[in-house]
Parts: sequence; structure tokens; C-alpha cells
Amino acid sequence: MVSKPMTVKFPYEKLETAERYRGEHVFDIDKCISCGVCERVCPNKAIEMVSAKDKEKYPKKYPKIDLGKCCFCALCQEFCPKGAIKLTKNYFLATFDSVSLIYIPDKNYKED
Ligand code: SF4
Ligand code: SF4
Repeated sequence: MVSKPMTVKFPYEKLETAERYRGEHVFDIDKCISCGVCERVCPNKAIEMVSAKDKEKYPKKYPKIDLGKCCFCALCQEFCPKGAIKLTKNYFLATFDSVSLIYIPDKNYKED
């Protein structure tokens, strides 16, 4: 009766995540050197090196990430020599459309 509620009114209110929380990935195609290390270290085979749609601007292969397969271990972030992949604190990824969890390189998904 006298103490504050333990819960929040999600999704209107959110709890702060831990500083090192590992959530949704962001990828910067302009930093990527197409070395393929992220694909090789991914334990869940969630990363596949694929061609970009804009082959003129991006002629090499780049990581396509399927967050539906990902265990959010952050090895891709840790081993990327250019800091092209980063995991953010965004955990709000629930969806009925599994295709929306596949991030293609051309999406060039960057943090705002
Ligand atoms: S966080 Fe781990 S499982 Fe997810 S894509 Fe990166 S290496 Fe693979
Ligand atoms: S995202 Fe990083 S590790 Fe993956 S191919 Fe590009 S530079 Fe290499």
C-alpha cells in the first residue's frame, strides 16, 4: 500500500536495461571490409555473407543476420575488426513475421 509498484506499464513505460545488455544488431556497411569473420565466429549460423543489392556501390559480400537464429552472444561484435556490427540495448523484437528479423546488408541498419 505504501511502497511504489514493482511493475511498469509496458509498453508505455520501459525499464532501463543493463549497460552491457545485448539486443538488436546495427550494421554499418560502409565500415565493413567483407572479411567474413562474423560469419565464421557465429555459433548459431545466424550470419551469412551475401551480395548487396546495390552491387555497383557495394561489390563484395556482406553479413545478412537472422535474429530469429541469434542467441545474442555478441561474438560478431567482439571479433569484427572494423566495428561494423554492434549490438544495441533494443530488446523489443517480438513479431509474428519472422522475415522481419532477417536483416539484409542493404538495409544498412544503423543506429539513429
Ligand atoms: S550475436 Fe552471436 S549468435 Fe547472434 S549473430 Fe552475432 S555471433 Fe551470431
Ligand atoms: S561485419 Fe565486420 S567481421 Fe563481418 S564481414 Fe564486415 S568487417 Fe568482417
